[in-house]
Parts: sequence; C-alpha cells; structure tokens
Amino acid sequence: MMKDKNELNFWKIADDIKRRLFSRLRMKTSQIDYLNYKGYRKKFEDIPDSLIKEWDRLKEEYKDTPHADFNRLKGFLYEILFYYACLKTQTIFLDAELCEFGGVKFEESPPWFECIPLYDVIPNLHYIWEKDEKKRKVPQIKADFLVTYVDDKGPLPPAIIEVKSSRKAIKYKRGELNWQIVATMRLGFIFQVAYPDPNLESTYPRSLKEWEIKTPCSKCGGLNDDFRKCIKCGAEIFPFTIVDARYTLKELMERLGGREGRL
Ligand SMILES: [Zn+2]
Repeated sequence: MMKDKNELNFWKIADDIKRRLFSRLRMKTSQIDYLNYKGYRKKFEDIPDSLIKEWDRLKEEYKDTPHADFNRLKGFLYEILFYYACLKTQTIFLDAELCEFGGVKFEESPPWFECIPLYDVIPNLHYIWEKDEKKRKVPQIKADFLVTYVDDKGPLPPAIIEVKSSRKAIKYKRGELNWQIVATMRLGFIFQVAYPDPNLESTYPRSLKEWEIKTPCSKCGGLNDDFRKCIKCGAEIFPFTIVDARYTLKELMERLGGREGRL
C-alpha cells in the first residue's frame, strides 16, 4: 500500500517545481515600486513571461531525471498562471480603490476580490482500500485556491477552485467529485474548476478573461456557468450557500444526510 519509490521521487520533484514557481511570483511582485504607476503596470504585465521562463528552466534542469513527467507536472504552471491572473484583477480593483480614497468618484465601488492559495499537501482522512484502490469515504476538499468576491450588489459565495491545464484534463474518479462538492457545501462555499480558454490554443492565459471557470455537476459531469443547477441534467448542484439566508446546519443535515458512502 506504500507508494512506490518512483512515485515518491515524482512528488519530490513536484514540490521543488511548485515552490520555485510560487517563489518567482513572490519575488517579481516584491520587486515592484508600486508608487511608479506606469512602471508598476508594465512590470506586472511582464510577470507571466518570467513564470514561463522559470518553467522552461525547470524543464531543462529535470530533462534527464526519471519520473519528471512534465505532462503531469504542467498543472503547477497553470496553477501559478491562474494565481497571477487573479492577482492582476485584484491589483486593478485595488488601484481603483486607492483612486476612490484619493477623491475619484465611481458610480459603483471597486469590488473586493481575493484569491488565497491552499496548501495542497493534504492528510487523507477515512480513506479505505477496495480491491487495491484507495477510496475516499468522507467529504474532504482537495483544491488549489479559495476565491472571494464582493461588490455593491453583495457577495458571491466563496469558491474553492481546482485549476486544470485543459478541459480534457478534467477527470474525476467516481464519487470523488461528489465528496469535494459535499465538503465545499459544508463550508457554505461552492466548488469550481478553472481551465484555460480552449481558443488560446498554443499560448498561455495571462488574465482571468482567458480562463473558463465552471461549476461541475457530480451527477453527470457537466460543466456549468451557473452554480445552482446543472443545465445538462437538471440536478441541483449548490442549492444554497453561505451568502443565502437559508444556510443553517439543520437544512444542511437534511440535504446532505442521505449522501452515500459513509463508513
Ligand atoms: Zn448534471
């Protein structure tokens, strides 16, 4: 049941790659003089190139290393690009907020938007082995970011987001997605997947406009713009969230109590 040595090697490489991409983003954002507006916007625009360069450097460094499967590892590049796109949006809203403090009048206040990376080395609770296959038996979140958004119309439900390198890469083991959705619903949040706009083809996404963010349905696997109901099969996905008045433990227990899979 122990992961074999090759797999451990893969995770060691994965840790290094993820850490270095996130460190590069941190370094680049730390180097900016935010008082020099033009220079700051230009430097911010240049960050994806620097991340992609770091990615190419890592590929070169690990090219002769067995188990450095870059097809599998490229999820980390997309994670960092998604994070960058979120930070870019956040800076634009913060710029507007600063202008507002400086006396500029907007019809609507600049939204508050925040993307928080989730540390993804997650202990596995209540996994069981069935015919050599490990299966999750309790709700647990395995995702990459927590994204929040509030504007003058009110808050959107906080979204737990898993980043995928493409639409094709969105594959869940049977039941796995259901647990993610239940775990997220318990927090009152919603669960969504983000992947690059398929029209980008060979280029990398550089802003949130170039990302698709969808709510997956655990019944049919359909990807939805709406988080309440699946347009494909009609199933309810998130009937309520923490931003709805109906979010109570009693209601949650009634809705979630009957889900299958408990030990
Ligand atoms: Zn569906």
